[in-house]
Order: sequence, then structure tokens, then C-alpha cells
Amino acid sequence: MFCFQCEQTAQGTGCTVQGVCGKKPGTADLMDELTGEMIALAKASGGKAPSDSAVGEVIEGLFTCVTNVCFSDETVQKKINAIREEKTKVEEDSGKAGGSGEAPFVMKELWEGDEDVRSLKALLLLGMRGMAAYAHHAAVLGKRDEAVDNFFFKGLAAVGSEKTADELLALIDEFGHVNFKCMEILDAANTETYGTPEPTKVSCDIEPGPFIVITGHDLHDLKLLLEQSQDKGVNIYTHGEMLPAHAYPELKKFAHFKGNFGTAWQNQQKEFDGIPAPVLFTTNCLMLVMPSYADRVYTTSVVSYPDIPHIGADKDFSKIIGKALELGGYHEKQNMTGINGGNTLTTGFARGTVLSVADKVIDAVKAGAIKHFFLVGGCDGMKPGRNYYTEFVKQTPKDTVILTLACGKYRFNDLDIGEIGGLPRIMDMGQCNDSYSAVRVALALAEAFDCTVNELPLTLVLSWYEQKAVCVLLTLLSLGIKNIRIGPSLPAFVSPGVLKVLVETTGLTPISTPEEDLAKILG
Ligand code: SF4
Repeated sequence: MFCFQCEQTAQGTGCTVQGVCGKKPGTADLMDELTGEMIALAKASGGKAPSDSAVGEVIEGLFTCVTNVCFSDETVQKKINAIREEKTKVEEDSGKAGGSGEAPFVMKELWEGDEDVRSLKALLLLGMRGMAAYAHHAAVLGKRDEAVDNFFFKGLAAVGSEKTADELLALIDEFGHVNFKCMEILDAANTETYGTPEPTKVSCDIEPGPFIVITGHDLHDLKLLLEQSQDKGVNIYTHGEMLPAHAYPELKKFAHFKGNFGTAWQNQQKEFDGIPAPVLFTTNCLMLVMPSYADRVYTTSVVSYPDIPHIGADKDFSKIIGKALELGGYHEKQNMTGINGGNTLTTGFARGTVLSVADKVIDAVKAGAIKHFFLVGGCDGMKPGRNYYTEFVKQTPKDTVILTLACGKYRFNDLDIGEIGGLPRIMDMGQCNDSYSAVRVALALAEAFDCTVNELPLTLVLSWYEQKAVCVLLTLLSLGIKNIRIGPSLPAFVSPGVLKVLVETTGLTPISTPEEDLAKILG
């Protein structure tokens, strides 16, 4: 096996024996085979989406390969078969029923090839895996975009073709813009379906009685679970990236949608140990399931794990609701906290809310009450160095505002660091895909101050772990946003040569220490 797609990759270079995430070598090899088949399909299709069903299968195939999504060989094999069927359809439709001559691409050729080409193609492929997650969520809510659909095929065909570094850099730039479009349609899908997020305080306490924990990013699965569990004597709690769901009017209206369970995703093995409730995984991040709670874990959508019940396309959650009633929940109220001891989390500061108080924010900047904005966002993970983000936020001066998004915020979202002009200094904009909101806010501020985004008193301090962070980063770079700080370590798939280009053209900078970085940023 070879896999170097996430931040925790072995030795910082690549998992070759077994995934640090728990992925087995056989599963990794099957994922490579699936990717090779998708590349062959894309090439047979002429680098353009051939049909809705092919787009759907490719999106699911890419999403399946995202870190902490799928541990089941059986599931990956089914995806391989589905992609082969799509390729046969393309060949039949183009009068090449005997085969298009496009053999499955052998990923080993890429992993063992030229370092810089490997790096650029990995950026493109892994970015597409991330974008597939967003396209999947948007499609579930009925939103598609032709440019997004087509790019999956164009990009996959490019990964399996001879390309120069310049051609790949141009494609990566194009991909960044396409992913912005994808995040835009997902934003539209979410807000048109569930309303504009509004500032909402979320309790970390767990009430006595039966409950279900739902984790991942899929708001549609959450809505269905809320509907099916209503009046059944079962409360629903979010976990991880599902937290921002509490801010959507059409979701928060359910009285049994109570609060948030636990802290960051990487603490799940400890926090789910002996939990008297079932847990539903709708997307990443699923870790190796421990025996103490294996009988109460359920997966749905693209997530799968050997011997763990999977809720299929019928989305019948009656078994998990029954399990919650059987387990009964806690006998007494549990007073839980975030990692810093805070008991309440606030979310819902997406673009609708922030832009509705734009005048107030602009006045505060002009009056000197707000000196600087930081976007401290991205993924959380296990490495100890990630307490950088907690310390960074703690050390920011009182006349600065922290915008945040994605699961990296669990490092500091229970901190009370005060307010500025009636607004909390930490404003949670939502899930990782809500980077779209952050960009829209930055563009609106730039317009108000008649300057570019790079001239605003704004610094992006990002944390990365998996492939959605890759697609978001590529979008930010394609929009010309410079001097982004990134950590806790640089991706293994960025070669020294490619890093040099990124640093020279975008000012991308690795994080150092909170003290040093704050001193440099604030002068
Ligand atoms: Fe290793 Fe990350 Fe790949 Fe898992 S997803 S095998 S931890 S690089």
C-alpha cells in the first residue's frame, strides 16, 4: 500500500504497512484500484461528464476514498464494479462496445513517479476527493453544477495523462475556482433548505434518558433522523462537524434536538467508551471502532465499516431509534465540557449573520475598536502540536476578532474570550465547506474598505488534516488570497519543488509558535 493523503501519515512521508488511521493495506490497494478505474472512465469519456449516473458514481467513489470514511473492502469493491459498469455504458454509447482501450490506470506509476509531478497530481486528485464530499451533499439536496460535474472527469483524466508542471498548475488553479462554485451551490442548498444560520448557543450537557449522537457533515441525514425520532422519547445530540446544524432554523425547531456531545472527532474512542446511546456516522471522521461501543455504532451514506450496521438509501432510522430506547441513555444529567472546561458552544455566524451587522463591524474597524481579524479554521487531528491553535486564540489581543470554521475549532470553541461591540470575539461560521461564507465576508469587507482582500487587516491561520482542507486551500489560493499560515505540519504530498512555487507565488507559510506568528502578523 501507499497512502500519504492526510496529515497523520506515517513518518510524515506515507503509510506503507498499515494506515495510521487504521486503514488496512488491502483496503488501500482497493482504493487505488477504484481510483485507477475512475481515471479510465474519465479518459474513456473524453474528460467530460458522460451521464448523471456516471457523475454520481464518480462523486461517491472519490468521497469513499477520503480519510476516515470507509474501512470496508466489500464497499470499495462495489464501487469498483459500479465504475466499470459506467465505463462499459460509455463505450457502448460511443460505439466502442468491445472496449475503449482505456485500461485502469495503475496508481503505483504515480506514487513511484517524478516527485514534482506526483505532488501536483496528488494535489489535484486529493482536492477532487474533498470536492466530491461537497458535491455529494449539494446533490442530495438537489443542487448540481455542470462545471463541477465536468471537472471531476477532466481532472481525473489529467491525473492519468502525461502533463507538464505548468499544465498541472493551471489545472489546479482552475480546480480552485470550480471548488468555489461547488461550495457556493452547497451553501445555496443548505440555506434554501434549512434557512439562514443564526447565532445559537449549544449546551454540552446531556439530559437523562434515551438519546442518539449524530456525527459527520450530512444535514439531510440529520433532518431525516430528527423527523423520524420526533415524539419517540429520544433526544438528538450533534458531534464533531455536525455542531453548526444547531444554527439552521429548520433544524433547531425540533424540541428534541438538544445539544452537542463530546469534543473533537479524534477523542471519539475515549468519549464513546461505554456511551449508553447509539452513534450515527454520516461522513468522516470514523476511527477504528472499539469493542466497548461497537454494538451501538451505525453508518450511512458513504461511510462503512466491517460488521457495523449500515443504513441504506431508504434512510430508515428505526433500528437506531430502537437501540437508543433499549440503551436508555444516562440516568442523570451529565454536565460535560469542551477541552478548555467551557460548557456552552456558540455557532451560527455564517455570512448571513455577519453581513447583517457589516455596518457595525466596519464602524468598529474605522473607530479602531477592531484592529485585526483572524480566520482560525480547518481540521482537528491527533498531533500534540495542534494546541498551537488553542494558544494562538488565547493570546490574540482583545481588539481582534476570531472567525472560525470546521472541526479545528474544538481546540478553542468553549473559551470565553469576551466580546467586541456586542459581538462575541469568537464567531463560528460553520463546517469546513462554510469557508464559502468566510470568503464572501472577506470580499464584502474588501469592497466596503475599497481595497483587496490581501490589504484587509485579516490573516488566515489554517489547520489541515484531510482532503476537504486540500480543496478549500486550493480555492483560497486560486482566489489570490496570500500569506496563509498553515499547520500543524506541511502535507507529505507537497514536494520541496512544489512548496517553493507555492511559497513564492502565494506566500504560504508554515505556522511557528503563537507568540512568533502573532508578533509577525500584528507587527
Ligand atoms: Fe495513512 Fe492518512 Fe492514508 Fe490513513 S488516510 S492510510 S493515515 S495517509
